[in-house]
Amino acid sequence: MTDRGPTVSDAAGDYLKAIWALSRDGPATTNAIAARLGFSPASVSGMLARLSEAGLVRHVRYRGATLTDAGRREALRLMRRHRLVETFMIERLGYGWDEVHDEAEAIEHAVSDRFAERLATLLGDPSHDPHGDPIPTADGRVPDTPDLPLAGLATGAALRVARLLSQDAEILGHLASLGIEPGATIRVVRREPAGELLHVEVEGRTAAISRDLAARVRGSAVP
Ligand SMILES: [Zn+2]
Repeated sequence: MTDRGPTVSDAAGDYLKAIWALSRDGPATTNAIAARLGFSPASVSGMLARLSEAGLVRHVRYRGATLTDAGRREALRLMRRHRLVETFMIERLGYGWDEVHDEAEAIEHAVSDRFAERLATLLGDPSHDPHGDPIPTADGRVPDTPDLPLAGLATGAALRVARLLSQDAEILGHLASLGIEPGATIRVVRREPAGELLHVEVEGRTAAISRDLAARVRGSAVP
């Protein structure tokens, strides 16, 4: 691996990561990218055209965008740095796991591959970060991650939390206050018929969470 800093601009890198996250089930639409990054659809279209010219994105007018192999490599490279930095901040610097994302967003663009690989070695080459998100390997593979949503569980069923699909400090802090963190076991106690609330038991305590939040809590079924 060569020792290099960013190969695309910070803004372009953020687009590549957004498209990677949004294009699991088909192209990422311009509107979805705009909503995720907080830009107008018009400015997103402009950037997609430039990324397409640079060979990083396949941009299909009115349908959206997918990553080329080169774009995917760059997205995974940034994600690897981001998640290693978050792991470092939590495990070594004492940050709360709900307060690291913004700093990691800045640092991921600033360090070299050499720095990232030294960090990985220092941390023992972790496969997942403290959010439970998989850390792509240096050669671009994404480790398997349990992905069953809490929202889909029947009454009485239980989930071991692997991952929380949010980078929002307020949401993560709220879930943490309920004991909902990677590693916790949650049992569904009651589902309100046609309702929005899910009553759950977490490590001996009961809590109610919205269906929307429950959809972000992912893990594996507990027998
Ligand atoms: Zn993050």
